[in-house]
Amino acid sequence: STGRMKRVTKAETTCQYCAVGCRFELYGKDGEVLGVRPTDPEATPANDFSTCVKGKFGYEFVNSPNRLETPLIKEDGEFREASWDEALDLVVDRLSEIQDEHGDDSVAVTSSSKATNEENFLNQKFARQVLNTPHVDNCARLCHSSTVAGLKQTLGFGAMSNRINEDIGETDCYLITGSNTTESHPVLATRIKQNVDEGADLFVFEPRKIGLAEHATQYTRTKPGEDIAWLNGMVRHIIEEDLHDESFIEERTKGFEELKEKVEPFTPQKVEELAGVSEEDLTNAAETIAKADSCIFGWAMGMTQHAHGTRNVLAITNLALVTGNLGKPRAGVSPFRGQNNVQGGGGDMGPAPHNLPGYQDPTDEDVLEKFESEWGVRPPDRVGLRLPEQYEAMDDGNIRGMYIMGENPVLSEPDIRDAEHAIEKLDFLVVQDIFLTETAQFADVVLPAASAAEKYGTFTNTERRIQMVRPAVSSPGEARTDMDILTDVAGRFGYEWEYDGPADVMDEISRLVPIYGGVNYDRLESTPEGLQWPVWDDDHSGTPYLYDEEFNFDDGLARFVPADYAGPVEMPDEQYPLMLTSGRVLYHWHTGTMTRRVEALMHHVPESFVTIHHKMAEDLGVEDGEYVRVESRRGDIVVKANVEDTADPGVVFIPMHFAQGAINELTQHELDPTSYIPEYKVTSVRIAPLGPD
Ligand code: SF4
Repeated sequence: STGRMKRVTKAETTCQYCAVGCRFELYGKDGEVLGVRPTDPEATPANDFSTCVKGKFGYEFVNSPNRLETPLIKEDGEFREASWDEALDLVVDRLSEIQDEHGDDSVAVTSSSKATNEENFLNQKFARQVLNTPHVDNCARLCHSSTVAGLKQTLGFGAMSNRINEDIGETDCYLITGSNTTESHPVLATRIKQNVDEGADLFVFEPRKIGLAEHATQYTRTKPGEDIAWLNGMVRHIIEEDLHDESFIEERTKGFEELKEKVEPFTPQKVEELAGVSEEDLTNAAETIAKADSCIFGWAMGMTQHAHGTRNVLAITNLALVTGNLGKPRAGVSPFRGQNNVQGGGGDMGPAPHNLPGYQDPTDEDVLEKFESEWGVRPPDRVGLRLPEQYEAMDDGNIRGMYIMGENPVLSEPDIRDAEHAIEKLDFLVVQDIFLTETAQFADVVLPAASAAEKYGTFTNTERRIQMVRPAVSSPGEARTDMDILTDVAGRFGYEWEYDGPADVMDEISRLVPIYGGVNYDRLESTPEGLQWPVWDDDHSGTPYLYDEEFNFDDGLARFVPADYAGPVEMPDEQYPLMLTSGRVLYHWHTGTMTRRVEALMHHVPESFVTIHHKMAEDLGVEDGEYVRVESRRGDIVVKANVEDTADPGVVFIPMHFAQGAINELTQHELDPTSYIPEYKVTSVRIAPLGPD
């Protein structure tokens, strides 16, 4: 294809899969990525020389013959190729018509945690400055929004407090819950395993006996959705045994007395009844954690994706505070963020209806003035609709136009049949992506984008580390970077964005976002290990671990916010007797748009499956490897049965990565009232063999 680079090129860059943020050299030639090699160890703070199988082989999607190479316009239900001019003029005309007729708020924009910080910043700027709509959101809503909400209330920053290598890699003790770390964050899991081999204690609390449990000091099987009970029970036991860190609580926190009262009902008996955790396991873990010099509290979707996800995060944070495990090395709260750039692009850059960039309040007059003086336009001064609310508004006809950049909601939203209906009701849908995804097939206009192997920018990993991304190849056909496309569209709306490149966008970010105040490309290019935010100004070297001196509140004190009990929304009953939970596998990534196009990965796990305990399989008359129907109140899917005893007989598991046998046909809408994250993790289902027909 024309315009692709002809020589072998080498780019020192950052992995485009998970938020561990491994760094390596990416080689390309004639428009094809050739491979991955280790880079200068100084430039790889998260991974040394290692990468996981996705980092090593997962780049192959970049070379896929199915990459989008030209814009597409749908006519009479069929896509035809179009020029950029024609496609972008149509986008501008149709969005303008909709806004003229139904008001500015009738359009919404979705951003992408896969894109760079600069592109996410521009995405929300496009929504707020150009379209004057507050309805901009991204998939962080669906993964760690409850983490951010919980940590902001208690500690002040919605992020991991510590570093990967120096803190997670060197701590004395771990409590890991709701994270299948070896599959989802492989290189980080390797650091944990090494440290456990060297003597650290590891407590894994999990409904499924995951890979990390094999290395644990103690593995404790929990009932899905019952984490508040055992976390509160641990806090109660620690206080009762006088093992809490009194001086830390006294000097650095407030609200302890109320917490003490609120955890009182969570006796070991109560915990066992609710969560299935024995008194011995509960007290052993609690006492070891409280007595350890340092402890890391790690979690992921198993904690966050519940209608009480924020309360789960409050509960684990209370445990970290009670034991004094914040504001010092080798300790901290470690939400393992999912996508490569969900911390930066999905969070810090503010493509979110309730946050301007840098988590700044869109209803605060000073903040609005600051943005207005930079942009010449006042951003909408109100909180917009969160992603799940946007789908309701689409269904009700209040949102009629949508611009989706790099997201695949028809697989990732809960109860996707409903999400599809909502999308079908739109008057106009634009999808900007690298493939014709399941969602792009619903679009009126599809815009071909560049992958991360084809552009400059930055990603911020799970330890708040801002790292460079560099191109190894040029884009196929006429595909363009998200930055380039957004700049072009904004110009056609009459907003000339005069950036010479992503470095200029970062300069604007540093002027508007205090935690990125001292970040610029000169510094990033000359600091191989990247910068960890907050970086307050040009003289500040960044913040390896948070809360050294104070928590991020005016009075500097952390807040204990008690977590009131809540369990799963849907409990098993006669009709739907099994509990379904969800998760990931090592070889795939999210809705699979990239990994399902990589042969080396598909070879390992080619299709969806449901794991069933052998006792349940016997009861149901299901054989290993046989196809079964899994039904919930929302829908039904057909998947292969994997008979294995990793969970209780009443608990089954399906991964989230597949379009055939998509788990979100089954999941429900119920939302966490604080963060609006859906209850993905617990669904009541029934399973039936397909029978001879
Ligand atoms: Fe990429 Fe994550 Fe694997 Fe590292 S652990 S290579 S960042 S997918």
